[in-house]
Amino acid sequence: MDETTASTETLREWLNAAKRILAFCGAGVSAESGLPTFRDAGGLWEGHAVEDVATPEGFAADPLLVWRFYAARQRALLPAEPNPAHRALAAIEHESHLDDFLLVSQNVDDLHERAGSRRLVKLHGNLMETRCTGCGRLERLTTAVPDPDRHGLPQCHCGAMLRPNVVWFGEWLDPLVFQPILRFFESASGPSQRRRNQDRGETLVLLMGTSGLVGGGYNIPDIARSIHARIVEINPSETYLTPHSHLAVRAPASILARAIESWAPRIST
Ligand code: NAD
Ligand code: ZN
Repeated sequence: MDETTASTETLREWLNAAKRILAFCGAGVSAESGLPTFRDAGGLWEGHAVEDVATPEGFAADPLLVWRFYAARQRALLPAEPNPAHRALAAIEHESHLDDFLLVSQNVDDLHERAGSRRLVKLHGNLMETRCTGCGRLERLTTAVPDPDRHGLPQCHCGAMLRPNVVWFGEWLDPLVFQPILRFFESASGPSQRRRNQDRGETLVLLMGTSGLVGGGYNIPDIARSIHARIVEINPSETYLTPHSHLAVRAPASILARAIESWAPRIST
């Protein structure tokens, strides 16, 4: 048995033993849907320096460049489809033997939602939403914003400029987004639950397709360790989070679908 097959087998056992699962996802989960991560491309995101297109300073300096970039990201997202990793995560959420499940994603695409995930925390916002820089109004988009070179910068009814409703580098996350995560860990951290986490692996944390470089993984691996949760990294490459994990599955995120194959008859998505 090779190493990936062996670690996938262990993952399968741990998934079966778990009663509470938290999945923490990054751009790698959408890579198999054809949406590139940027760390894999040497720090460039579709040929742009991240500082130019994904920071408040970049937006202030050149909003047209930033809107061109996000309009292109939106156009690339429309024909993309959820991949087996997104679908497996949605299927796990609907597993009736679980007491608790939470999907925490750093992705701004909408592929988790389209795959059927509902217990979802989107830490970094939503590519398919705009936010007014004046009145703060949020608007959901069903298609990409009109080409900013031909139609000008997207504007709110109040006259102010719109921006993508995503969290840029150097911006703070809304503290409210952390509440479901804290609730998940609180309910998994009583003394007897901690013991069951340790003895029976009842709490499982999956780190999928994330380098952990943004926000240091938001302390999720540290909190998970403190309550004796099992931690599994699913990522073809070693990452900053690898030392925090108990098991590394060195494979693309879609391996999760294989690890839950035996659950399929019970899935009701
Ligand atoms: P990241 O920091 O989460 O790193 C990407 C990780 O994915 C790397 O560790 C890489 O080894 C891994 N990976 C690559 N292919 C994979 C696969 N098939 N299966 C599993 N793992 C795989 O993500 P990032 O690209 O550095 O982006 C940081 C931030 O930029 C994100 O948090 C997000 O807000 C934004 N971003 C979002 C998207 C998206 O929404 N699809 C895409 C790019 C960037
Ligand atoms: Zn407005």
